[in-house]
Amino acid sequence: LREDEDDAYFSSYGHYGIHQEMLKDKVRTESYRDFMYRNPEVFKDKVVLDVGCGTGILSMFAARAGAAKVIAVDQSEIIYQAMDIVRANQLEDKITLIKGRIEDISLPVEKVDIIISEWMGYFLLFESMLDSVLYARDLYLADGGSAHKSDTGRPPVSSPALPPGSWFRCVDPVGFMRVPAGEVPSVDTSVGECSNTGTRLKQQRLSKRDDQAIVGYFDIFFDKGCGENKVSFSTGPKDTKTHWKQTLFLLESPLPVQAGQYPRHHTDLLN
Ligand code: SAH
Repeated sequence: LREDEDDAYFSSYGHYGIHQEMLKDKVRTESYRDFMYRNPEVFKDKVVLDVGCGTGILSMFAARAGAAKVIAVDQSEIIYQAMDIVRANQLEDKITLIKGRIEDISLPVEKVDIIISEWMGYFLLFESMLDSVLYARDLYLADGGSAHKSDTGRPPVSSPALPPGSWFRCVDPVGFMRVPAGEVPSVDTSVGECSNTGTRLKQQRLSKRDDQAIVGYFDIFFDKGCGENKVSFSTGPKDTKTHWKQTLFLLESPLPVQAGQYPRHHTDLLN
């Protein structure tokens, strides 16, 4: 089952369309680019691993930002296009592309200085790709060292422990839910159902303006520990739309809330 799911997952990334959608998401793509281009001292002469390189876009940013060597890995067929794209940009001396699951292949180097990845799925964790990035971190990241906890004051959906000294640490995911006070924002969501190990999320379109819902979205910060020039973006309903949109959890009955209030405990939502 696991293998079938993986095949379906990777073949969905084999087509150009899905990559085009991600590349065209300016908020996403330009945030990664801006962080790398504005912090060349972070990348200068470093060995970088790109987990899930897709078209190779992040690898090319890293190479242009001054990395000595970039190893780009993807299990999907899109990597054959990445090979052409890298050559067309004359970066084939710097970027080595490897087809395979990061969990299955062996890298041409023992350790890397920096890991870059765009692993975020709908509602942050759909796709469960974070596991693969953490796997790569544990196995390949130099000076792994002590774990670090997310220090944001907001209630996190996920605050993975990440070691200092890696660029990945700069990608500090903060998933949080906000209960909209008064009216529900009219957010555009795609309809679809997905299930993966233990999680079942349903994205729904609002049927009426006065439906009550919890809006799920996340913010991304490229700011921890390295790079003077910080970059961040939000996938929230008040910010420029991204391909992640937002995820709505419709409530069966209204929940009285005040602006700025977070549920103290998840059972508050169920009672
Ligand atoms: N880095 C690209 C693509 C991001 S989409 C960009 O920013 O545009 C995520 C990619 O990761 C997909 O192409 C998918 O095939 C790949 N991927 C996901 N899990 C992987 C794994 N375990 N091993 C190798 N590639 C993986």
